Amino acid sequence: MEASVDRIADPWGGRTPYARGAAWPVRTDTHLAPGTTTDEVDRWVQTASLLHSNGDAMDIAVRDGRIVGVRGRAADRVNRGRLGPKDLFGWQANASPDRLTSPLLRDGRRLVPCDWDTAMGRIAARSKELLDKRGPGSIGFYTSGQLFLEEYYTLAVLARAGIGTNHLDGNTRLCTATAGEALKESFGCDGQPGSFTDVDHADTLALFGHNMAETQPVLWMRVLDRLDGADPPRLICVDPRPTRVARRADVHLAPRPGTNVALLNALLHEIIRTDRVDGEFIGAHTVGFEELRRRVASCTPEWASAICDVPAAAISEAAGLLGSAERLLSTVLQGVYQSHQATAAAVQVNNLHLIRGMLGRPGAGVLQMNGQPTAQNTRECGADGDLPGFRNWQNDRHVADLARVWNVEPSAIPHYAPPTHAMQIFRYAEQGSLRMLWISGTNPAVSLPELGRIRSVLAQDRLFTVVQDLFLTETAQLADVVLPAATWGEKTGTFTNADRTVHLSEKAVDPPGDARPDLAIFLDYARRMDFRDKDGGPLITWDGPQEAFEAWKRCSAGRPCDYTGITYDKLRGGSGIQWPCDETRPEGTERLYTDGISWAHPDVCESYGKDLVTGASVEVVEYRSLNPDGKAVIKAAEYRPAHEEPSQEYPLQLTTGRTLYHFHTRTKTGRVPQLNAAAPEVWVELSAADASARGLAEGDLVDVTTPRGSLRGTLRITGIREGLLFVPFHYGYWDTAEGYGPSGEGPGRAANETTVTDWDPASKQPLFKTAAARLTLVRRGDGVPAPAPTTTASAPARPDGIRPTEGGPDARATQSTDVPRGDSTPDEAARP
Ligand code: SF4
Repeated sequence: MEASVDRIADPWGGRTPYARGAAWPVRTDTHLAPGTTTDEVDRWVQTASLLHSNGDAMDIAVRDGRIVGVRGRAADRVNRGRLGPKDLFGWQANASPDRLTSPLLRDGRRLVPCDWDTAMGRIAARSKELLDKRGPGSIGFYTSGQLFLEEYYTLAVLARAGIGTNHLDGNTRLCTATAGEALKESFGCDGQPGSFTDVDHADTLALFGHNMAETQPVLWMRVLDRLDGADPPRLICVDPRPTRVARRADVHLAPRPGTNVALLNALLHEIIRTDRVDGEFIGAHTVGFEELRRRVASCTPEWASAICDVPAAAISEAAGLLGSAERLLSTVLQGVYQSHQATAAAVQVNNLHLIRGMLGRPGAGVLQMNGQPTAQNTRECGADGDLPGFRNWQNDRHVADLARVWNVEPSAIPHYAPPTHAMQIFRYAEQGSLRMLWISGTNPAVSLPELGRIRSVLAQDRLFTVVQDLFLTETAQLADVVLPAATWGEKTGTFTNADRTVHLSEKAVDPPGDARPDLAIFLDYARRMDFRDKDGGPLITWDGPQEAFEAWKRCSAGRPCDYTGITYDKLRGGSGIQWPCDETRPEGTERLYTDGISWAHPDVCESYGKDLVTGASVEVVEYRSLNPDGKAVIKAAEYRPAHEEPSQEYPLQLTTGRTLYHFHTRTKTGRVPQLNAAAPEVWVELSAADASARGLAEGDLVDVTTPRGSLRGTLRITGIREGLLFVPFHYGYWDTAEGYGPSGEGPGRAANETTVTDWDPASKQPLFKTAAARLTLVRRGDGVPAPAPTTTASAPARPDGIRPTEGGPDARATQSTDVPRGDSTPDEAARP
C-alpha cells in the first residue's frame, strides 16, 4: 500500500501497528525533488542519516550528478525503511549556493580566497612554530559529532601521537559526554547495553528527559507502532514540557529542572521499599547496593515531591510501573545530561536496571542516548575525551598497548591527566596557554554557553583559529583560516548510531568547488607535519577511508568496541551491523551484558570512575578494592540543588533545547526550505498561568534575561510547567545582517547568550537546563502568533486562530508498506 503524506504536518507518518515480540513492519519512505520520478533516478547510493543519532539507513537518489532525493532502506534493522523529516528533506542543504568552495585566509578584517597549498602551508607553519616555541599544549582540536569514524580516528592519531597534545575534544561534550560517563561509572566502560529492538519486546518504556518524538522521530515511530498494536507497553515520561511523548504517557512527571536526582532517588526508594529488587542479579553482578539502599532510605515520594514539585502519588505510580515491569527499557537524553547533576542522575537510571536485573534480555535494557549521528565514534576513536578503543588513560598497560598499535613510545601519548574537555580547552584559549585551535564541523559561536565570552575568545589576535566547515558559519567568520569541507553524500566513511549499529555512507556526488573530505584535509596536514613513528616511518600510513577503517579495526581489536569482523563489503547492500563484531560474533552483537558484566574488571575497564560530586578521578587502588571482580558498580548520589536558583531579580527558570525541524545551529536545516519554514525564527515558551499573571499573550515580543545576557523572541503559550521558560537553541546570526553576533548592544537571537559557563563535575557536560531568568515585554504581538511549530512540544495551549504547521506540496513523501522481495534483517531472522 502506498500513501503520500505531508511530513512537515505529520512528521511521524502513518502507523504500522505490531504486537509485542513481533517484527516491526516495513514502511519505506521516499522523497524526491518536485518533478522527479523514481524512473528518472540514475542510481541509488547507500548511506544513513546525518541529522540525529538514530542512524536511519537510506539510499541517496542521484540524477545527472546531483542529489535529487532519498529513500529509506527497508532491509535495515534500525528504521525498516522509515525516514524522519530531517532525513527526507535535509539533503537539500548540500546544494546551497553559499557552500564554501575554496579556502579563505584572514587579511585584516576580511577573509579572502586562497588555494589549498597556501592555506595548509599557513596552518602547518603555525603549528611548527608553536611546537617549537610553546610545546604541544599550545595546540588544541575541537571537533564534531558529524564527521565519520575514519576522520575522527585519523584526527586522534595525529593530535595525540603526532602533535602530542591532550587538548582534543568534540562538541559531543555538549551532547553525549554524560551518556559515556554514566556507562563508565556503572559498567566500567562505554558501550550501549541495549538495542533499538528492545522496543519490540518491552512491556514498560521509561523516557527520562528524552523527547524521543523530536530528537529521534523514527525510533518514536517504532514506539507509536507498539502503542497502537496488541499488548502495548506502558509508557513513563519525565519531562517538564508537554512533549508528544508526555501526551501518550501513562504517567507524565514534569519535575522542576535540576531535580532529577531527587526524583530518581524516590523511584529507587519505592522499588526497594516494595521489595521489587532482583536479589540474585544484585548478588551475582553488582557491588554497592547497600550504600544505595542507605542513601535512598529517606527519599520518600513526599520528600521528592517537595523538591521536584511533582505529586507524590504520581511518583508512587511511576515507581509501581517500573517495579512491576518484566521487560523494562529506559532511555535517557538531554533533560538529564545537561544538568548540574547529569552523571549522578543518569547513573541512577542504570541503578534502576541493575537492582531490577533488567539487562541483557530482549526488552530489558538501557539506552543512554546520543544526540549526534557520529557521537559514538568520537567517543570510541578517542576524539572526545578518551583514548581510542575505550582505553584507560590511568592504566599504563592500556597506554602501552595503544603505543604498540601506533608504533610510538608510550611517552608520546599524553596521559598525565584526563584528556582535556571542551570547556577547559576554551578556558586555556582564554587564558593564553592555547594558541592554536582547529575547529572541525562545529559552530561553538552559537552552541557553547555564554556566547559573549566565546566570541571574545575566538576573536583574540593571539589565538590562531582554523575552521573546517561547509558554510561561513558564525565561528568561521571569526577564523584565521577557513577550510571548505565536503559532507555526507560527497565522501565515503562509516558511522555508528546510538545502539552501536555501524553503517556505511558512500560518496554519491562530487563536493562543490575545491571542497575536500575532512579525512583528506587531516591527511594533508599529517603529511606536511611529517609525523613519524618510533622507527622513523610515517605515523599515519593510510590514504583513504577504507584504509583508515582497516587501521581503526586494528586499534579496536580485543576492545569492547571491536570492529574486526566488519568490512566495507559486509556493510554494503544489507543492514547495519552492531559492534562488537569479530571472528566469534561475525553478525555483530545485539545486546551487551547477556552473560554478566564484561568490561568492569580493573585490568580492562575504560575508567575507574569519578567522584560524582567533585569529578575527581578514582585511583586504581580504590577501584580494585571496591570492585576486584569487575562487577557493575551501583553508585548512589545525594540530591544537590541547582547552582542557580530563581530569585527576586530572576524569578523564572530557563531551559534550552531542540525542535524536531532543526539540527544544531541550523547550519544545514536553516537552508532547507521545508524545515526552515516550519520553524523560521526563535521563540520563547511560557505557561498560560505565568503569561496571564504577567499580562502577556501569544505573539508578544519579549526579552529573556539572565546574569549573562539577553535574547529576544516571540512568546508561545504552551502547556509547559509553571515557572519555566523554554527557548530553542538553534538560532544564531549567519542569516542576519550582523553575521556572527547580536547587533550593537541589543539582545541577541541565540539562546546561549544567556546560558552559564558551568558543567557537570563528572562528565564535564555544560549546563543548559537550569539558568535563572526574567522576562520583559518589548512589544505587543497584536494577535500574530509565534513562529513556533504546532506539531511538537511547542504546540500552543489554545490552538484557536493559530495556523497549524504544514509543509505543502513540496513536503509530501510517499510511504509504502509493501515489503521489498527478499527483505529481512538479522534481528528478525533471529527471532524466536
Ligand atoms: S543539539 Fe545538542 S544534543 Fe542534539 S546533537 Fe547537537 S549537541 Fe547533541
